[in-house]
Formats: sequence, C-alpha cells, structure tokens
Amino acid sequence: MGIEMSQFENFTASSLYCDKCKATMPVRERLLLVLPDKELYDYLCTGCASSVGSREVTTGEKMMAQAIAAQQARRGRRVPISLHS
Ligand SMILES: [Zn+2]
Repeated sequence: MGIEMSQFENFTASSLYCDKCKATMPVRERLLLVLPDKELYDYLCTGCASSVGSREVTTGEKMMAQAIAAQQARRGRRVPISLHS
C-alpha cells in the first residue's frame, strides 16, 4: 500500500463511468488483442462486468510504460519518498 500503489493507479485508468451502474466504477483491464505493433485492452466494470471502454497501446508506449514502472518501483524501494510531510 501507499506511494507505489498511487503511482501505479495514476498510470492506468482505474475507474470509468459505467452506463449500467450509472456511476464511476473501478474497472479491470483485460487484454483483448495482440497485434505486431500494438495491443488492445478492454476495460470491464467490476460491478456488472460490462465493457466500459477500450484502449490501444502501441509497442513503443508499452515499453516506455514498463521502463517507467520499473524505475519507479526500484526508486520506491531504495529511496522512500515522503509525501506526508
Ligand atoms: Zn457497471
């Protein structure tokens, strides 16, 4: 819990508006399709399991995202950032 989690949540869409639930709901990311140059993700509402959105991630974006995530994880463990002060 804490700093690393919130950084991760900022990075991906963690909640979207759901028409069925009439509310902004937490979503689950599901890998829909893998293409040579990109991946398609589907966002499923955790309340009713319907699709509330989708996202394309190009290979370049994905590699960058992974690099950033890895960097943040490493930094988070080695040098704790105090956000509460
Ligand atoms: Zn829903």
